Amino acid sequence: MATKTQKALLAGLRALYPNPKPELAFTNPYETIIAVMLSAQSTDVQVNKVTPTLFQKYPTIADLAAASVEDVYTIVRSCGFRSKAGNIVEASKLMLLRHKGNVPNAMEDLLALPGVGRKTANVVLANAFQVPTIAVDTHVFRVSNRMGLASASNVEETERQLMRVIPRKDWIDAHHWLIFHGRRVCHARKPDCETCTLRAYCRYGSMGNAEVKPKTRKQPKEP
Ligand code: SF4
Repeated sequence: MATKTQKALLAGLRALYPNPKPELAFTNPYETIIAVMLSAQSTDVQVNKVTPTLFQKYPTIADLAAASVEDVYTIVRSCGFRSKAGNIVEASKLMLLRHKGNVPNAMEDLLALPGVGRKTANVVLANAFQVPTIAVDTHVFRVSNRMGLASASNVEETERQLMRVIPRKDWIDAHHWLIFHGRRVCHARKPDCETCTLRAYCRYGSMGNAEVKPKTRKQPKEP
């Protein structure tokens, strides 16, 4: 159950970001899972630069399952390590084998794919299948714990606490609200508390910490 302050924070976030949409580009569940896997420890902007070429060359899971890892890596290398190319090819092979070339819509099936952790699975469930989830990435973890929507030292507990204070109908939007606020205002190194419209309700900002580097808890590792 949310406190009055937490409700004010959620209302403020909704007002700031009224139509939250993913900043990753995808048009179907296959593109969703591949784009989200590539986005780990990369940026949405960078992923959006490579996926048009990737999806043009490999338009289906079956196409990507049959691809050579080296060929895929030449397209996605700007998004990170070679292991990512290996993971998206291997995950495609498993989706072809176990799910008839479709993206599974159950958490346990998603987690069985290489390179897919709970955050990635939650993002896929929310964006490809509209299943209410709160995916806790580095922004969601940092911002929610700073402002006081959560008080947790790990991503799993953060997710549980957010699910308790945020109405289920807002879970998917809240994931985007917290990411947008983390990218635009509540930066990792130096949150812009001076201009933040949520400061009056924020646990960190209301303590007059605008100029002090916050003691962030251990940041989650992307899968
Ligand atoms: S007041 Fe500061 S710490 Fe709180 S949400 Fe705003 S930018 Fe982040």
